[in-house]
Amino acid sequence: MSIPSEPNPDLLEPVKVALTPQQRFNDYLQSRSMRNTEQRRSVLDCVFKQHDHFDAEQLLERLPAKGEPGHVSRPTVYRTLGEFVDAGLLRKFVLDGRSVYEHDYGYPQHDHLYCIKCEKLIEFQSEELLKLRDEVANSHQFQVRSHRLIISGVCQDCRKGRRRVRRKVDLI
Ligand SMILES: [Zn+2]
Ligand SMILES: [Zn+2]
Repeated sequence: MSIPSEPNPDLLEPVKVALTPQQRFNDYLQSRSMRNTEQRRSVLDCVFKQHDHFDAEQLLERLPAKGEPGHVSRPTVYRTLGEFVDAGLLRKFVLDGRSVYEHDYGYPQHDHLYCIKCEKLIEFQSEELLKLRDEVANSHQFQVRSHRLIISGVCQDCRKGRRRVRRKVDLI
């Protein structure tokens, strides 16, 4: 098991999975008689380098720019992200009208706290929350497939920062 050199307290630890994301994606493509391509491979490598929450535009910035070798066009990136979601590699959710992606394959189920100031996402897991979800669903004879909870607010750093900024203003 590899431990990242600088663990981020806001993110969870990955879980062990049998296949690499590339292997899993190959299986998906084969089941649909699609071919893997250099572009799909490089987008997947880039996406799975580290766990993160990102949108398509942020991913485009991490990939080689136009004119550089290995450049992937915007429409291809958008289409490929859709394939990764379809293949169960990525989860997609909407945040402030943006489509945000993160790892699904090899990553535990979790929910998020979202800071409206710095747009940071903090991950957390709660057994109690899952129990409550199932109880609510049961009471409606509802079968749970998934859920998405995002708690909006202001993170600790921003709450501290805000006080500092105010003090600076007071000094002037
Ligand atoms: Zn914040
Ligand atoms: Zn997350």
